[in-house]
Amino acid sequence: MPLVDLPEAARRLQAGGLVGVPTETVYGLAANALDPVAVAAIFRAKGRPTDHPLIVHVLDDPDVHAIADDRARALAAAFWPGPLTLVLPKRPHVPDAVTGGHPTVALRSPAHPLARALLERSGLPFAAPSANRFGELSPTTAAHVLAAFPDLAVLDGGRCAVGVESTIVDLTGPVAALLRPGGLPVAAIEAVIGPLARSSRTAAPGTLTAHYAPRAVLVATAAPDEEAARHRALGRRVEVLRALAPEAYAHALYDALRALDARGPDVIVAEWAQPGGLGDAVNDRLRRAAATRNADERGPRGTT
Ligand code: AMP
Ligand code: MG
Repeated sequence: MPLVDLPEAARRLQAGGLVGVPTETVYGLAANALDPVAVAAIFRAKGRPTDHPLIVHVLDDPDVHAIADDRARALAAAFWPGPLTLVLPKRPHVPDAVTGGHPTVALRSPAHPLARALLERSGLPFAAPSANRFGELSPTTAAHVLAAFPDLAVLDGGRCAVGVESTIVDLTGPVAALLRPGGLPVAAIEAVIGPLARSSRTAAPGTLTAHYAPRAVLVATAAPDEEAARHRALGRRVEVLRALAPEAYAHALYDALRALDARGPDVIVAEWAQPGGLGDAVNDRLRRAAATRNADERGPRGTT
């Protein structure tokens, strides 16, 4: 396993290479955000469409303080470093490769000490989507990253504390809007800047309906026992993911889905999280994983 230390990771980033980086949300597939060629390699490695923009990770972005509005300054002061991404007007030095050609840029200051150490040591902001192949489950350990990218240089920062991606807020319009629920509860954001619109005037490119999916068909339900029984009666092999308290559920979600998927079921029945806080992020990911395919369109394993 090509695990690397911090100096080596920083050297690779400076040389235009890719590095697997732990953050408190999920592991990222990182490249120098200011180098369009390095950024292009992220899209190639992931198989991600180039019009799905990347989040730029910064130590503490002076641009936010220099140009952005009061909302951005207040949110950065309250929640950075942390699992909050702010979409803001892009400045000219941010390459189009990072923003998918959009006039906006998504910025986040990660809290994980190794991610911060990499930002400091390399002296570079890094662009990073999750370190998985496009559409698959996000990685929350170094081993998950290496399962998808065996030759990638990875910084091992242990298991991600939050376990789901960041909350994304669009600040490019007059009304702040939630683009994606995530690791920072929406109520915490609304306590600082007031109500968020639930859809945005800015397109949220890449927030696909179908995403974050295991290999098995995923069915999300409030009644996992009944749902599991229904599929078993149809001859399907079923694994069940039961809800935990919202924060614990978010922390465990992707690893649990991987472990259940590895048993080779036809269907994974997942119980909805209690709504609110991180439960909203969990339910968003379950909804998208479930949107990929419909269990009732398939027969037992091997017959479709
Ligand atoms: P991820 O797929 O976890 O890397 O998250 C990236 C997501 O952030 C994208 O799919 C977009 O929804 C959002 N995003 C990133 N950059 C921008 C941008 N410039 N404008 C609007 N949304 C963005
Ligand atoms: Mg992702």
